[in-house]
Amino acid sequence: MQTKSQTKAYRENVARLLAKYNGAVLEPVIYTEPVKKNNTKKEEYSVEIDFDGASRAWLANKQKLSDATYKYICLGKTKTGDICKRKPIGHTDYCACHK
Ligand SMILES: [Zn+2]
Repeated sequence: MQTKSQTKAYRENVARLLAKYNGAVLEPVIYTEPVKKNNTKKEEYSVEIDFDGASRAWLANKQKLSDATYKYICLGKTKTGDICKRKPIGHTDYCACHK
């Protein structure tokens, strides 16, 4: 028959072993738990890229040339309300008239 102190020591030993076991084994199991199917939060992680919008934005200050290349154009408005389309200065979006 065990004494009270022996029982206490045994319990402490078990507690230590469980703590060790938890730290060494259970934690990685938690992290490698497979992602649940039918995850209702799936939509929060979906990424939608507006390629058409990005393309339009990229083309906004450019004009397509016959050899399938593009040139930068001035985005200033002419008196008739059309885009100027002249060659912009440096890395700006406007020509000498519209800077
Ligand atoms: Zn211009």
